[in-house]
Amino acid sequence: MDIQTFAEFIRTQSEPLQYAAFFGSLLVLGALEIAFPGGVARPHRWPANVGLTALNIVVLGAVPVGALTAADFAQAQGWGALNLLDLSWPAAIAAGFALRSLVSYAVHVSMHKAPVFWRIHRVHHSDPTMDVSTTVRFHPAEFLITMPIVAANVVLFGISPLAVILYEIFDAAMAVFTHTNLRLPAVLERMLGLILVTPNMHRIHHSAEQPETDSNYGATFSWWDRLFGTLRTRTPEDLTAMRLGLDDWIDGRTDSLMWLLSLPFRRVPLMGQRHGAVSVKPTRQLNVS
Ligand SMILES: [Zn+2]
Repeated sequence: MDIQTFAEFIRTQSEPLQYAAFFGSLLVLGALEIAFPGGVARPHRWPANVGLTALNIVVLGAVPVGALTAADFAQAQGWGALNLLDLSWPAAIAAGFALRSLVSYAVHVSMHKAPVFWRIHRVHHSDPTMDVSTTVRFHPAEFLITMPIVAANVVLFGISPLAVILYEIFDAAMAVFTHTNLRLPAVLERMLGLILVTPNMHRIHHSAEQPETDSNYGATFSWWDRLFGTLRTRTPEDLTAMRLGLDDWIDGRTDSLMWLLSLPFRRVPLMGQRHGAVSVKPTRQLNVS
């Protein structure tokens, strides 16, 4: 199969491939969570998480433009860094893939650092524990905000349409994998962690301790956190005992879909005020498995 035929196949099958990567990972890793003791975490969170997932699928389907439209536009115009270079197709795909993951990293950092973005992104962090259902526990507004930022960066870097599609398929599977409530064997964790974000790394990002929430921003490759000094690690014992979620205001409401949808507009602690400044409800000690 030459590159042209491959690109056409990926292009025509991009949606089924993305859904297969997402739902396939969800089924396999979800089944493993059920099979292993301690893998299933607080099932009463699931209706809210599944509700947000369904809403986000509808919202994403309704948005007429995205990263692929931006990549097509940049390629047609010859805009963007990679389109200005005379790269071979493997080099263009590899560079596009790496730059697309850098964009995800940078957008994620901005969701934590800009107070208005954090109001929306904290819906994801409000989950008091983690499993595959946390994967798409995002407020729909997050996609509406991040999509134009990602699209603008795809044009700026001139990321090719094929690199964009391949990254989105990879990202769909990685998103489920990194939220899985399973510990990998230590050797596998160490080896994978040299290149990829692992469930242990991403678990630290969901810690109730703010310095840890503000670390491990990577979604796919771990090297951006290494490069920018935002990587944190913990021992396996620490990870098991670690409290997850947003400690200041965890209570039963985080299981309510309606409450989560209204959360960006609520007066609750912003990043930087989370510890000590505002006390909404007593902290619940969670049994995180
Ligand atoms: Zn985050």
